Amino acid sequence: MIPVNEALWTQSKANRLSPRFEQKYNNIVQQFFSRDPRHWPIFQIAELGDLVTRRRSLHPHSNVSMADRLETEATIPLTSSDAATPFDPLALYAANMSKNWEDPASVENVVSTPSDPAIHGALLATIANPNLVSRQYAGGAVELEQVVIRQIANLVGYDDKKATGLFTQGGTFCNLYGYLLGIRKAFPDSSVNGLSNHSFCMMNSEAGHYSNMTDLALMGISINKQVMRVRVNRDNQIDVEDFERRMKECIQKGIKVPTILLTCGTTDTFAIDDVEAIYRIKEELCYRYNLSYKPHIHVDAAVGWSLMFFNSYNFEANPLDINPATLHGLDSIMPKVRALKYADSITIDFQKWGYVPYTSSMIIIKNGKDMEALKQDPNYFSYFEPRMKEASHLQSTIECSRSAVGVFSAYSALSYIGIEGFQLLISNCMQNANYLRYLLSTQDHCRVVSASNQGPSVTFRLYHPQSKEDPYELFDEERRVVNDEFFDSEANHAAYHRKNFIARKGRCLHTNWVESIAHTDYNSFGNCLYLPGEKAVFFNPHTTRDQIQEFVEHLYFHRHRI
Ligand SMILES: *Cc1c(COP(=O)(O)O)cnc(C)c1O
Repeated sequence: MIPVNEALWTQSKANRLSPRFEQKYNNIVQQFFSRDPRHWPIFQIAELGDLVTRRRSLHPHSNVSMADRLETEATIPLTSSDAATPFDPLALYAANMSKNWEDPASVENVVSTPSDPAIHGALLATIANPNLVSRQYAGGAVELEQVVIRQIANLVGYDDKKATGLFTQGGTFCNLYGYLLGIRKAFPDSSVNGLSNHSFCMMNSEAGHYSNMTDLALMGISINKQVMRVRVNRDNQIDVEDFERRMKECIQKGIKVPTILLTCGTTDTFAIDDVEAIYRIKEELCYRYNLSYKPHIHVDAAVGWSLMFFNSYNFEANPLDINPATLHGLDSIMPKVRALKYADSITIDFQKWGYVPYTSSMIIIKNGKDMEALKQDPNYFSYFEPRMKEASHLQSTIECSRSAVGVFSAYSALSYIGIEGFQLLISNCMQNANYLRYLLSTQDHCRVVSASNQGPSVTFRLYHPQSKEDPYELFDEERRVVNDEFFDSEANHAAYHRKNFIARKGRCLHTNWVESIAHTDYNSFGNCLYLPGEKAVFFNPHTTRDQIQEFVEHLYFHRHRI
């Protein structure tokens, strides 16, 4: 049985959809996701209007000759084409055949469909074409980047006069900046002398996104010798005690910890690390051991940042009439979201839960002076006006050319949709997620995983329908697994679930299979086994309760074939 102390999401009534909420929500979707050519003029272009209609019909027609061309075309035409049609037929076909994130059933992962204002904002940047590398090449667009940085600084709770940041190529690059900031602050000479003379260890969490590791490898850091992955608890949050123990161990051995990389909203189970606790331990250890440097805390909030729209929400008055299950769930995780202000820098992906087209990612930095640590030799930048070099982050960025598409589209989404609009969009996702959790909890052989993480990701495991055991007890047994014998039974259940998942073929909701949605307890060597399962991420503004209901009704539809 579900433990009684589990939150309100298990109760039918608490998951009701309030008519007042629904009305406000529909208004937002109508305004900002309608692709209505009367409001959003680019959809007046016939081909784009058709593109939207065709994608909404859900069954794009494959065209054999076009598909063939896509596979084989390899040369640039020698002669020019007629410019009478705005889009090349093959490009248009590829756009039509691209994965449709507007389909209400699309819930595979942390991917969304862009809002109309964001699409129009992106268009401005594409046509004006500023290059954010320097003010010389961007002009006023640099100022718009600063506007968004100040807006987000205020959302986080940073001092907008001290904070800085920049838009860069995806969350992976933001995390790379986070690591680099720590390295350059701890070892200022490393930009010319490299890292071989330094003894250090980077820290991240075992549940971090893969970019948390690939970035380190990219920097030439030894994954085996210079990285510590801190254990995670049963719900995939960083284990604060394990962190403290390892941090102390490093300090006592004279090993520096340049960067601590935490996560706000892991990609699969939406775990939020306790940033405040880690910050306090770090501060305390710096003081106690009189460290000459401070580890840089970077939080990868690529997915979770959007919850900051609720930092100032009045949970008592609940003006949007968010249902009790979700209101309670949100309220329970908000302290950890508000603690983002303790981070030295944060990854923010507008392209995920911000309804902005790819790519639009920002790293925001609490203390603008930190960027100085990334400065390279000014002589490298020979073709820029000397006085311009100082006026931007030119000498501190990893990139040279930087697109302004992310800036214009993020700014447009923020200014049109506003905080309240985002609150509606985000809480609708959370209400959908809790509704699915609730329906799954009524199924006999299903266990919802990490429900207390709340957030938009619903993760669950299905057990064999012939199993006599309660799925909640089974799951707990699986987590206590230490011997292979039991793992055979776990593997059987996982194999059943996997077959069931494949037989459903994404019916009603296109869910995703994840190899590690949970883990067993750590053994005496500090190792654990990963438990696979299924996930649905509710970012899609078009997904309704109808799809969710149908999905659950058909969960065992193919049972007889398995
Ligand atoms: C998506 C994601 C990233 C990587 O961001 P990209 O923009 O895809 O490079 C990093 N961390 C988390 C938690 C993510 O979900």
